[in-house]
Amino acid sequence: VLNLTILGTGSATPILLRNPSAQVLSNEYESYLIDCGEGTQNQLIKYKIKTNKIKHIFISHLHGDHFFGLIGLLSSFNLAHRTEPLTIFGPKGLDDIITIQLKYSGTFLHFKLTFTAINTTIDEVIVENEIIKITTIPLIHRIPCCGFLFEKKPKNRNIIKGKINEHFSIEEIKQLKEGKNVLHEDLSIKYSVETHTKAHSSAKYAYCSDTAFNEQIIPQIEKVDLLYHEATFKEDLIGRAAVTFHSTAMQAAKIAKSANVNKLLIGHFSSRYIDLDENLAEAKSIFTNTEIAIEGNQYEIGN
Ligand SMILES: [Zn+2]
Ligand SMILES: [Zn+2]
Repeated sequence: VLNLTILGTGSATPILLRNPSAQVLSNEYESYLIDCGEGTQNQLIKYKIKTNKIKHIFISHLHGDHFFGLIGLLSSFNLAHRTEPLTIFGPKGLDDIITIQLKYSGTFLHFKLTFTAINTTIDEVIVENEIIKITTIPLIHRIPCCGFLFEKKPKNRNIIKGKINEHFSIEEIKQLKEGKNVLHEDLSIKYSVETHTKAHSSAKYAYCSDTAFNEQIIPQIEKVDLLYHEATFKEDLIGRAAVTFHSTAMQAAKIAKSANVNKLLIGHFSSRYIDLDENLAEAKSIFTNTEIAIEGNQYEIGN
């Protein structure tokens, strides 16, 4: 299971009701901070996120509503005597911005900070280990921008109840859980993986903000458990969405529908909207399983 906590769903300027973009995705070992708008550190405190678990930060693009919280967060990590290394992924230029802020504020970090510049024009695996695979999703925006696809890898297989008896050795059970058939000495199958175990399903989460309507992302996000897609405007401002390289709620829903995702979360709302009922209704008219991303809400992804 992956756990998503929404920290901010606003766009451009913060309003009282909504902080700018930020989210935390967690598994049992690590947390991933996705975008870091102004005020993200306050949101992390408010929602009791353990920051030592955050070892990777992903910045989609260099518009301020997605990264202005970064220098404050790094400074606070330092004041809290963080020693855990941290890797930041973001478009080219982020390294220079942060380095110059640290330099002129005379800040010397006590932890190892690594920047990895991402190429926002291609889908590329940027993190891969036994637990997770993280891939960039190229988006279309006014400046280089990408989303991120998080795929939790399935764990060992589960033994099907009643299929194991006292004749199985511990070693045989271990092999089955690891997905290997148990073989006789002549290499014929003694116990097959298929009949004795079932696979854990993986969990997939796609984060897509900010972007113009872009059907090219559909194959990459096909059948994800949860899709977060920006929905800056309602349909009456579809023209404004086009010129600012943003999407409407209905366009987000069209992407969700075509990609056959399980659930859609919409966010990155223009500050002109206070009440979001109509935004939600517009999206739901195309893709029923849609929710408004709400700050502080947690979403379980996969099983
Ligand atoms: Zn934005
Ligand atoms: Zn933007």
